Amino acid sequence: VSKHDSPATPHVQLGRGHEFDSIRDLVNRWGDAATGIGDDAATLDIPRGERIVVSVDSQVAGRHFDPAWIQPREIGYRATAAALSDLAAMAALPLGVLFAINVPDAWRDKLGDIADGVADAVRVVGATIVGGNIAAANELSITITVLGHAFESLTRGGAAVGDHVYVTGRLGGPGAAVAAWKAGVEPSEVARARFAHPVPRIREARWLADHGATACIDISDGLVADAHHLAAASGRLIEVHLDRLPVIAGVSAADAARSGEEYELLVSAGGLDTAGFASAFGVPLTEIGSIVAGHQGVTTLGGGVLVAAVGGHDHFSR
Ligand SMILES: [Mg+2]
Repeated sequence: VSKHDSPATPHVQLGRGHEFDSIRDLVNRWGDAATGIGDDAATLDIPRGERIVVSVDSQVAGRHFDPAWIQPREIGYRATAAALSDLAAMAALPLGVLFAINVPDAWRDKLGDIADGVADAVRVVGATIVGGNIAAANELSITITVLGHAFESLTRGGAAVGDHVYVTGRLGGPGAAVAAWKAGVEPSEVARARFAHPVPRIREARWLADHGATACIDISDGLVADAHHLAAASGRLIEVHLDRLPVIAGVSAADAARSGEEYELLVSAGGLDTAGFASAFGVPLTEIGSIVAGHQGVTTLGGGVLVAAVGGHDHFSR
């Protein structure tokens, strides 16, 4: 991903006060990972003829992650990568990121580390931080707004009967990491890395869109749960072969199918060059099923026979 073409917008001088001292500190830490900070709002150029693509994502401590699991810098990285993943799902290129944080007093001295993680994530995709907000609060939460652009974005809604269904990367890491932490043990290095350092598949998504992808979603709730979302939006039936799922070592296909917060992409297409994708990005692209005639939904097969449905994460389930 190339950096946005227009020259970096300079920061605006900030006034006096503790809040502005905090912001000054963040801007200094961020260096070239931030542009145009300090006015009432950010002004961004978008390429002529393209459309703006926007999404927002919140992570609440104790709800979306346990602060004991990962480092403050990883908390900032992860929140930002998760939000950027939604731009990838739309095959949009990132323009800028807004960072809003609610900080309890006990977390004040970790603000800089969290902010460094936000900068790490925007650097991965060649975007910049263009604004944000800091508020005192009783509960730590991070809200990341991502702004992107696309000439033609991919949606969840275009899958057609006869399309194949593919997934990027290897699944199961975040689910395995969370299960380990909940059991009071350290996850494997691979599983932990997949949880703490997901990579937004921005360049991969552009490749997929340019090679005929018809629909796309990023896997935040679990492969099968997100396949249901894609099936609903497209009004199609998706057949997923669990035995074809690319999994990390030590994870079963069923667990990988319900592992959330993967931030990999699930796409449909008439046919994709999986070897070409893998050699371009060093990440596997695996055909795991197809769009078939039938009522809207998802069926899961193992060894060619129907197996029980696999659940995913529902934000409002109890
Ligand atoms: Mg999403």
